[in-house]
Amino acid sequence: MRRLNFVLLAGLLVSWLPWSVANADVQDVRVWQSPDKTRLVFDLSRPHEHKIFTLSNPDRVVIDLANASMKASLDGLSERSTTIRRLRTGTRNKTDLRIVIDVAEAVDASSFPLAPNDVYNNNRLVVDLEPENQTRVIAPVKKDDSYNDNKRDIIIAIDAGHGGEDPGAIGYGRTKEKYVVLAIAKELERLLKAEYGFTPFMVRTGDYYIGLRERTAKARKANADFFVSIHADAFKIASASGSSVFMLSERGATSEAARWLADKENESDLVGGVSLEDKEDHLAMTLLDLSMTHKRNASVQLGNSILGQMSRVSKLHKKQVEEAAFVVLKAPDIPALLVETGFISNPQEARKLADRSYQKKMARAIFDGVTGYFRIHPPRGTLLAADKGKAPVFNTYVIRRGDTLSEIAVRNGVAIADLRRVNDLKNDRLKIGQTIKIPNS
Ligand SMILES: [Zn+2]
Repeated sequence: MRRLNFVLLAGLLVSWLPWSVANADVQDVRVWQSPDKTRLVFDLSRPHEHKIFTLSNPDRVVIDLANASMKASLDGLSERSTTIRRLRTGTRNKTDLRIVIDVAEAVDASSFPLAPNDVYNNNRLVVDLEPENQTRVIAPVKKDDSYNDNKRDIIIAIDAGHGGEDPGAIGYGRTKEKYVVLAIAKELERLLKAEYGFTPFMVRTGDYYIGLRERTAKARKANADFFVSIHADAFKIASASGSSVFMLSERGATSEAARWLADKENESDLVGGVSLEDKEDHLAMTLLDLSMTHKRNASVQLGNSILGQMSRVSKLHKKQVEEAAFVVLKAPDIPALLVETGFISNPQEARKLADRSYQKKMARAIFDGVTGYFRIHPPRGTLLAADKGKAPVFNTYVIRRGDTLSEIAVRNGVAIADLRRVNDLKNDRLKIGQTIKIPNS
């Protein structure tokens, strides 16, 4: 069987323009492997048209670039992929470049161009290879089926920001955000795996890029109860420091920094690479926002719970949950937060963020915040919901500067009278550092 996939990207109309005839160099090639596809990225010296098609017997992908030459080394690239056997090039018609990718199995090949941006000054050509026969396992499985009554775990989707082509913020000492946040995410995964009643779902498991919309789509497919995106960004002012928690706002940002960060984060798809075809119509989804109020309330409470825990290990940039129009938080039906674990642009914080023990402390703080919230508000049908009626469950909270009892009551959805009762409080005065019990509401 001979399959012929033919894609002419730049379009026939523009193919006669002078730039497309002019010579182009392939200056660099990068390979990124994700669980379901291999991505090749070619840096081009100028925008250039190309043709891509697949051939079988043996399976291979062919990319033709008219009037082009290969200036990059292809050494070692095939070892970075489970699909690529070999990469080779040849010259056709004296001036045209042909790139042949020998593949281990039949693949669907797609391609799209990316324009230069802040991170890459080159034009890029992205080629995605997806094995044709792949079985996708998406939904996380319950840890232990010996639980009876069909009660399920609470599923926490952990999204390590950026990845692959998108390094995220590059901080002091060349620390890359994509590595820092993956390390924190993996630690959070480890903690949740070991925790009764919880199952983590990792949106990104390695060094590759996933589109912002696809991240929430993956979380929804995994039936996640909560989505948390982990970041460590840069700000134009190097002295900016502290961790913060953001939720989605459709109306506008709560601060200039929040707007700035959301704009930066939303540029991720341009840097990491998202094909226009992947931009499905998510408009319908946002109109389906029946549970929006619940989602907002849960997001605020979860955010406050995380901020309370993070205040023990780091300075907070803002004491409240901030809001801005982060694309990655646009999953209408589940609470979603973006956690900035610190500013990688700040020399002291960059050092801490790159440090293993600090990463662990950050992961622990997010873990305590998330599990603390869900112990008080377990979703219906979960093990924790079933256990809730059995014994009184208390969450603990350490008083910070500026806390008031009424604000803590509102934040946790409990009556102020209950707070006074379970803590034997004679009045509403609180001491910084004092630990109080938050009753099961
Ligand atoms: Zn980020």
